[in-house]
Amino acid sequence: MCGSTRRSAISAASGSCARAPACNSAISSTQAPPPSENPWAKKLGPVGPIALLLAKGKFLLTALFKLKFLLSFAAFIGLYWAAFGMKFGIGFAVLILLHEMGHFIDIKRRGLPAEMPVFLPGLGAYVRWQALGVPLETRAAISLAGPLAGFFASVACATLWWQTGHPLWAALARVGAVLNLLNLIPVWVLDGGQAVLALSKVERLVLLTACLALWLLLGQNMFFLVALGAGYQAFFGGNLPERPSVAITIYFIALLTTLGVMISLLPAHALGTR
Ligand SMILES: [Zn+2]
Repeated sequence: MCGSTRRSAISAASGSCARAPACNSAISSTQAPPPSENPWAKKLGPVGPIALLLAKGKFLLTALFKLKFLLSFAAFIGLYWAAFGMKFGIGFAVLILLHEMGHFIDIKRRGLPAEMPVFLPGLGAYVRWQALGVPLETRAAISLAGPLAGFFASVACATLWWQTGHPLWAALARVGAVLNLLNLIPVWVLDGGQAVLALSKVERLVLLTACLALWLLLGQNMFFLVALGAGYQAFFGGNLPERPSVAITIYFIALLTTLGVMISLLPAHALGTR
């Protein structure tokens, strides 16, 4: 839901391509950024006004992307405001925004291009970026950066609840943690579904075991859903990576554990904050 990092059509092509061995490395080498010296730059000398117009067009396009972000976010807030009241509605929308910004910032800090998040009221949000040629492990880390930011947002809300005692903060902290945990179910376009692609079969089995252990220890049935997804990916999921990724396995399990502990520390029925 909230927030799958949705890729462009080009990256979807690379996803299907990843099934072929050595395909990723081939993509990486062929997709190296073009050299900075553009032969067209020299030819554009006499047609400066056109170049200026193109630059202006780019500016307008950038403004349009920001407008898309602002308008969709306003519609998103409006829907949840109407559904849950002003305070919870705005808080919920901000939680989703922070999750998406986790993806956005992680993509940007790696020097990769990304657009500001776009919100789909009632469905979630996504950050569009170019995943073509990006190693599976990096893609997985970018996918997990959303739930990581969501976890910190939840911690901030929980801290405000412990300090003020206001049930609104407890409700936001819990809802945020639950949404981010559900988003880690390793299926489909969910963040977990993208991150699991970097895990080997053995690592997927480790993930499955961890989920079952968390289910038993914390008594939260959401972990059974995550375990189902992990089991499916371990036994029936294709797209196995060429190399295992211990770092992503630890990152994934650490996120699940911290979100689970967070949920267990928060009251289950803190709503009624209209
Ligand atoms: Zn996400």
